[in-house]
Amino acid sequence: MKDIEIAQKAKLLPIDQVAQKAGIPLEQVEPYGHFKAKIDLSLSAGDHARPYGKLILVTAVSPTPAGEGKSTVTIGLGDALTAVNKKTMIALREPSMGPVMGAKGGATGGGYAQVLPMEDINLHFTGDMHALTSANNTLAALIDNHIYQGNALNLDPRRVVWKRVLDINDRALRHIVVGLGGKTSGVVREDGFDITVASELMAVLCLAKNLADLKKRLSKILVGYTYTGQPVRVGQLKVEGALTVILKDALKPNLVQTLENTPTLIHGGPFANIAHGCNSVLATKTALQLSDYTVTEAGFGSDLGAEKFLDIKSPVLKKNPDTIVLVATVRALKMNGGLAKDHLDHEDITALTQGFSNLKRHIQAMRRYNIPVVVAINRFVADTPQELQCLKDLCQAEGVAAEVTDVWARGSQGAQALAQRVLESCQQNRDFVTLYTPQMSLTDKISAVVSEIYGGSQVSYSNKAQKQLVEFQERGWDKLPVCMAKTQYSFSDDPKLLGAPVDFTIHIREFVPKLGAGFIVALTGNVLTMPGLPALPAADQIDIDENGQITGLF
Ligand code: ADP
Repeated sequence: MKDIEIAQKAKLLPIDQVAQKAGIPLEQVEPYGHFKAKIDLSLSAGDHARPYGKLILVTAVSPTPAGEGKSTVTIGLGDALTAVNKKTMIALREPSMGPVMGAKGGATGGGYAQVLPMEDINLHFTGDMHALTSANNTLAALIDNHIYQGNALNLDPRRVVWKRVLDINDRALRHIVVGLGGKTSGVVREDGFDITVASELMAVLCLAKNLADLKKRLSKILVGYTYTGQPVRVGQLKVEGALTVILKDALKPNLVQTLENTPTLIHGGPFANIAHGCNSVLATKTALQLSDYTVTEAGFGSDLGAEKFLDIKSPVLKKNPDTIVLVATVRALKMNGGLAKDHLDHEDITALTQGFSNLKRHIQAMRRYNIPVVVAINRFVADTPQELQCLKDLCQAEGVAAEVTDVWARGSQGAQALAQRVLESCQQNRDFVTLYTPQMSLTDKISAVVSEIYGGSQVSYSNKAQKQLVEFQERGWDKLPVCMAKTQYSFSDDPKLLGAPVDFTIHIREFVPKLGAGFIVALTGNVLTMPGLPALPAADQIDIDENGQITGLF
């Protein structure tokens, strides 16, 4: 059965019952229809207002283009913990319409491990993505209007860094010219679009601790430079209040449920290759305060989402994961071992053994933080018993616990062994070891990520990046954490270098200061902040009949 068919047959609880299950007082629930709700922010007000439960971070090996089932395993593990009577909540990212209409598909899990209502969550959900897009483009309009109306701040139109956004892949909008049409149509300048999930506002929403913090972060955003090279921030335009108003509801976490009715918060959705890749601090914090176990995920491989979770999100959340679950699939490892994409369904122990080098490096990277690691082998139908055993043995030789999970086919029953391992692992209470400290220079932080997480040997900086490094040091911006923008397919910045490459150089072509989010983005290789659609977009398969029945949404 297709994911959407399973989803359409599900028996959902009314959302107030899901809230009750989670221990959320009804007066703090704001229903959006029958099966979705926003949660009042007062529930998560104050640091550690209620004690935190255990935090389980789900990450993965370097993925194949379709994903490795991180969301699926996150949801299945959450259901499995619920099934053994542990008070559990799941905290996920909201899908972007880019991959839904493009190549990868949605992000609501699959098979018998899904969050619902999947059609809504994968499309407009509660409107957060639209609110972010609107707020972002309102700021863009206000900047252009400021220049047009006399430019009191002396903003150099050639040095406006704030871009417009759209939550769909649209390569035609990467580079545009605005202000055409004569004197009354504004000032001509070059501009461009990013995808909403790569925008600074998405990161700000995900890292804000409350409304006041949201407004403060918005006021710090860098919009551009004056003709004399001085930075100009949103606070100088005095529009942070208006932007906060546009985002006031988007800041509230969204409550939904899994197929097995485990309460789930879905909030914020930055990509992990071109942004920081984690759901919101507010949602994770709410889940940590309401439940004994919170299962959350970070995007793509551990080199991207998990590294940023640990180095960017954890310090704001004031909580490090108690266990890291590394999702691996036989097919992804075979691909990392050199097998072509269209041969992944055939048994190949040699390719699997070779590709294990990829998982091994992810294990080493996560162990660097001194957090216990458990490998979840997400079973696909084509995996053979020999391949699954081989992978378990390879993990055992590395001294890491590994369990085959089958949540896609069997729901919570498919992750009982994994749940037990995770429960044991969460009792270890180890001391977290940071990868870098804020005081370290930006280049030292980047070197730490490249050598200790990616396994690379050198970092090269373009002329532009070198000039920016000098500028950032002068301004004190180099004390911020770094958010690497890198391909998800390789530890290196070359998407074709699979497995566990050695002796490679990471090429930094440019930095983008995200002062509201509180990090510096380092653009590596050819990574793009506005993706394009593939030759055969998923949109070609999506349809709706006269009764409103949707098909083709996976
Ligand atoms: P990720 O979070 O790693 O991107 P997802 O959980 O979104 O991956 O899964 C990607 C796709 O793979 C989904 O369409 C899902 O239904 C499918 N999938 C996940 N696990 C399995 C499995 N074990 N067998 C078959 N399909 C699976």
